[in-house]
Amino acid sequence: MVPTVAVSEDLLAKYEPVIGLEVHVQLLTASKIFCSCSTRFGDPPNTNVCPVCLGLPGALPVLNRKAVEFAVLAAMALECSINEVSIFARKNYFYPDLPKGYQISQYDKPLAEFGFIKIDLNESQTSGKQKRIGITRLHLEEDAGKSLHEGFADAASKTAIDLNRTGVPLAEIVSEPDMRSPEEAYEYLTRLKEIILYTGVSDCNMEEGSLRCDANISVRLRGQKEFGTKTEVKNVNSFRFVKQALEYEIERHIEILESGGKITQESRLYNAHEGKTHGMRSKEQAHDYRYFPEPDLLPLVVDKKWQAIIRASLPELPEARRQRMMKEYGITAGDAHTLTLTRAMADQFESAARTARNPRRVANLVQSELLGRLKAQGLELEQSPISMAGVTASADLVESGAISGKMLKDLYDLCFERKRDFLAVYEEQGRPEQSRDTSALEKLADELIAANPKQVEQYRAGKKTMIAFFVGQVMKASKGQANPQLVNEVLTKRLEGD
Ligand SMILES: [Zn+2]
Repeated sequence: MVPTVAVSEDLLAKYEPVIGLEVHVQLLTASKIFCSCSTRFGDPPNTNVCPVCLGLPGALPVLNRKAVEFAVLAAMALECSINEVSIFARKNYFYPDLPKGYQISQYDKPLAEFGFIKIDLNESQTSGKQKRIGITRLHLEEDAGKSLHEGFADAASKTAIDLNRTGVPLAEIVSEPDMRSPEEAYEYLTRLKEIILYTGVSDCNMEEGSLRCDANISVRLRGQKEFGTKTEVKNVNSFRFVKQALEYEIERHIEILESGGKITQESRLYNAHEGKTHGMRSKEQAHDYRYFPEPDLLPLVVDKKWQAIIRASLPELPEARRQRMMKEYGITAGDAHTLTLTRAMADQFESAARTARNPRRVANLVQSELLGRLKAQGLELEQSPISMAGVTASADLVESGAISGKMLKDLYDLCFERKRDFLAVYEEQGRPEQSRDTSALEKLADELIAANPKQVEQYRAGKKTMIAFFVGQVMKASKGQANPQLVNEVLTKRLEGD
């Protein structure tokens, strides 16, 4: 539920929102960052724990090399510069889910800094207008445990604790306060997730908490230089909710300021059910974490040689891939955008496009025929009954004129009905073919030519584009069943004929 807008459009226009995001991404290592406990999600509570992640006296942390490599890879994908030396620090605070009483994080010497993500400014990805959102830093840290408020007998009066997550490696990615609207924040998160997924260092599964977002928001009068007082919306678990929470906060800030009040700097939680944020009564806002260098860990050194090895494993990233695919296959920006939504999809498309007669038609079919049907049935691309090879085969059949666009649509419907791939259904239907019998078409063409002398005259006077009008009429008369290529041939012959 989103509450109705309380602040007028005029007032909204008077203020400019300033948004920065902090994103925690769980790295896909098999073991935790400072011990060898498993990071597996969903195991029985408190089964993946040891003296190190429980913070027992005398236990010492040992850094997981893979966690460093994953974080460096993510940082490179986000265009950050990697610091050869970074320092782990203790962030001290008291909370039941933090057995040591401090979290090992990085503070004034983070692993990576000065990156950026380019976002599209318009909803339609075809405008080409992009904005650069700065990334202040990316650092490594360990996750805390999880408080459980439900699912056991005395849950009403007690909170239980699961420490399986304690010590799971996280990359924290902090943006500059460069975003100026909830839409930009949404777009930034979408691109960020896409890039991280391409690198393969995290599954970014928000339901399982592998990607979490805190949003900092303030408003200021347009034209004003100084930032307003910010609030922080913590731990929002979907991008859509981040956008809604920001929209709510912007209006709340403006209402307070317009009525002469002051914004209190605080952390807030978003209740998606009410569509509202609420202040947290925690003392954490004091932010007195008393950081100091972690005495049990050496400085982390990622020298140029190691950086080069990691960089070599960096895959082609979505933006670069889109540009290349547009060039290579002659597809539109919109097509490229859809086809690179996941790395798997882009891989599948490319292997299909290499063998297709016309890659553009493959891209087209994915957009126009496949994705719509998948969406209607609530399916992901991986669950599609029609494989990319099936799309390619169908595209080739249309391209050669063997089947019509209308026949393809019917075959696709059957594929979804029977949950079978395209070629299987095409065989089952006895390899249907559209008619190449031209006599009916010739009759239709003659009738049209007789009925439209003006258009015929224009055509014969040199306006060759007029053929489109006749083709359109024939296609309409045949209810889309005719083979456009054939229609074109017959009409050209008739129109040029006498
Ligand atoms: Zn452990």
